[in-house]
Amino acid sequence: MLIMENTALAPFTTFGIGGPARWFVEAASEDDIAEAAGWAREHGVELFVLGGGSNLLISDAGFDGLVLRVGLRGIETASAAEETGQTIYHAAAGEDWDGFVERVVQGGCAGIECLAGIPGTVGGTPVQNVGAYGQEIASVIESVRAFDVEQHAFQEFTAAECGFAYRRSRFNSSDHGRYIVTCVNYRLTPGGPPTLRYADLQKAFANREAAEGTPTLAEVAAAVRRIRQTKGMLLVEGDPDCRSAGSFFKNPVVAEVELKRIAACGDKDPPRFPAGPGPENAGRVKVPAAWLIEQAGFAKGYTLGAAAVSTRHTLALINRGGASAQEILALAGQISAAVENRFGIQLEMEPVMVGF
Ligand SMILES: Cc1cc2nc3c(=O)[nH]c(=O)nc-3n(C[C@H](O)[C@H](O)[C@H](O)COP(=O)(O)OP(=O)(O)OC[C@H]3O[C@@H](n4cnc5c(N)ncnc54)[C@H](O)[C@@H]3O)c2cc1C
Repeated sequence: MLIMENTALAPFTTFGIGGPARWFVEAASEDDIAEAAGWAREHGVELFVLGGGSNLLISDAGFDGLVLRVGLRGIETASAAEETGQTIYHAAAGEDWDGFVERVVQGGCAGIECLAGIPGTVGGTPVQNVGAYGQEIASVIESVRAFDVEQHAFQEFTAAECGFAYRRSRFNSSDHGRYIVTCVNYRLTPGGPPTLRYADLQKAFANREAAEGTPTLAEVAAAVRRIRQTKGMLLVEGDPDCRSAGSFFKNPVVAEVELKRIAACGDKDPPRFPAGPGPENAGRVKVPAAWLIEQAGFAKGYTLGAAAVSTRHTLALINRGGASAQEILALAGQISAAVENRFGIQLEMEPVMVGF
């Protein structure tokens, strides 16, 4: 295992921002992970786990510790219990997420077709319970295998033990920094129908002739990627609108009774959508952060130095070229303050802050 010094981190992130890692290592196996974690402990340095770098803002000073990049590869399938007829896919944490979705869709299994086009690795998906276009990873995770840096041992978690909620799991909340995910097991449905819950997606197939039948999983995944591209939410070489970390703010979840107050602040009824399943979401709705930001006076394309609001999606902050982390945070600060002034709502940042 080769531990390198002063390695530039910006090229490992979709923002293209951030200073160097004091130490940096690529882990290709579970043994490498255990060894690297042991090295960090022996040397008393902080450990940061890097996947595809698509949900991060790294500070301009970089990270004064060991960055462990997860490079474990391999995908295997195994049939699940006969009574469910579902298939379990075992995917190593360093696999490219969109490549995995493509493989599952080509294999005729339903469950993650709407999550096509999300950048990053398999190992990143349970961390913030990724979701898009009507699907969330929590609903298809069977179990997660991870290395516990405190106990120096591997452990397996069932989906229920992962503590999933909107953009949340035990891995980014109560146990933040404790576990390194090495493998995720997904329970998918052979021959299942695609999920067509999301309005944009339904619109994409609105003119389909009855004779053409239900869209296939591959058609739905392709439509999701197309929609994502129109919003700058697909990584496309040379597209400045995708030099981002995706959505920079989470959609606030508010009590339904709050909607009247929000409408009065904005002179308009706010759009809303279900907060999600679970008793904790009863009587609550999600209000799109993009709408709040627009109503607070920020249009697509608004710029502050080399940082900007994407020209195609108000929720994504982008690096126009040479932006510093400080510039991104200054823009984020302006936006949050304006939303709070107008609506009394504190926006929460979605990307993970590293080295601040
Ligand atoms: C253009 C664009 C569009 C996006 N669209 C969406 C979207 O639609 N929905 C959505 O939910 N997200 C979206 N994202 C955010 C991001 O792609 C996801 O959160 C993704 O799952 C992050 O995975 P990653 O491997 O890049 O993680 P990284 O960004 O490398 O890391 C993010 C966090 O996860 C931790 N982590 C990563 N891998 C592991 C591991 N193996 N073990 C333990 N911890 C780990 C890191 O330590 C860090 O805390 C988008 C991002 C971009 C740039």
